[in-house]
Amino acid sequence: MSQETKVSTKKVIDQYDKYVIGNYGRLPILLVRGEGSYVWDADGKRYLDMFPGWAVSGLGHCPAPVVQAICRQASELIHMDNTFYTVPQGQLAQMISERSFGGKCFFCNSGAEAVEAALKLARLATPQEKYRYITTLDSFHGRTFGAVTATAQSKYHQGFSPLVPGFSYIPFNDPEALEEAFDDEVAGVLIEPIQGEGGINIASDEFLSKASELCRQHNAILILDEVQSGMGRTGKWFAYQHTPVEPDIITMAKALGGGVAIGGICARSQIAQAMKPGTHASTFGGNPLATAAAIATIEMIDQEGLLAKADELGKYTMTRLGELKAKHDFISQVRGRGLMIGVELDIPGADLVSACLEKGLRINCTHETVLRFMPAMTVTKEQIDEAIDIVAVVLAEHVPAVYSSPDPPNSSGADQ
Ligand SMILES: *Cc1c(COP(=O)(O)O)cnc(C)c1O
Repeated sequence: MSQETKVSTKKVIDQYDKYVIGNYGRLPILLVRGEGSYVWDADGKRYLDMFPGWAVSGLGHCPAPVVQAICRQASELIHMDNTFYTVPQGQLAQMISERSFGGKCFFCNSGAEAVEAALKLARLATPQEKYRYITTLDSFHGRTFGAVTATAQSKYHQGFSPLVPGFSYIPFNDPEALEEAFDDEVAGVLIEPIQGEGGINIASDEFLSKASELCRQHNAILILDEVQSGMGRTGKWFAYQHTPVEPDIITMAKALGGGVAIGGICARSQIAQAMKPGTHASTFGGNPLATAAAIATIEMIDQEGLLAKADELGKYTMTRLGELKAKHDFISQVRGRGLMIGVELDIPGADLVSACLEKGLRINCTHETVLRFMPAMTVTKEQIDEAIDIVAVVLAEHVPAVYSSPDPPNSSGADQ
């Protein structure tokens, strides 16, 4: 069997080489099946997935209620354009509104599109002369032109200038810099309540409160990008709910559809009314299939008490990672909220990620030195133990070799 499947891995890779644009650095592994926190490759090797679907598969792979909802909805109505009303779109909007701040929703198909919708709504909801946006260094907001311009990291801008005009970048968690950058031409401030790609950096209450205050003072819109931090992973539906701040708009995507592509925004009603027919649209946005999957996702989080579980297991994971930090000088910080966890190293993390993968564990490394753990909210304590045990072995095996010239510990980012 493995003889045959090995051939098929090679065949698929050859096919990609010939027909798929090479914009991703892929591992030479062909995944064929997933269930919960495990995935299997074509050779039958099992991986424990502590980063399922890049935070999309928040309920793990193929969660049964979502699978059932997709099948049921697919046999009734897969797609209907927004010329008409359909049942799941309204229902999903109500569910999100009731779990956030009582606003109104617009649906699209990805995180970047959600960010675009929020940026455009901020313009529509403020006077014409307001065109500026303020975003934070090390942010990540997606790859479309507006979203990538909002993403304040030069590596994502390479080759694309001139970018969208009007964006200013300030250091994350720097209220003074934010105040300095502000003026009456600012339409919106866009912040991740927890920077994900930027290395699991938690926005301070002080920073978010300042942003909220300045937005009110200057009639600007506070947009919190919850594409990665939203949908329960942090132990609350949205990460802003851990803070004293209520945003004007939140963006969401990734885990919203339990694995199905869907994005959206929720905006305070007063702001939402600026988006009138003709001002913005998405052909696929809010389609019955994706919204039915999202409804099933939210119901499953409620029914299985997964918010409390994310909180509890997140604390447990951080404690266990803290034990590793006590053992290894090159771990400078463990930080996170719920099941959104980063381990900051003084050394590059890529080799450690590869070594974990060889031992059947998938984790992620972002910003070169931050190991990122974002397991499914359905993960078990035993699976977390299994993962940490592998990481412990990998750290013990690898580090003497790489740990030759330590940099001073990096203490940026908030603690928890
Ligand atoms: C992933 C991500 C995006 C972009 O989402 P896509 O679906 O890839 O377009 C935007 N914002 C944040 C915070 C993200 O983590």
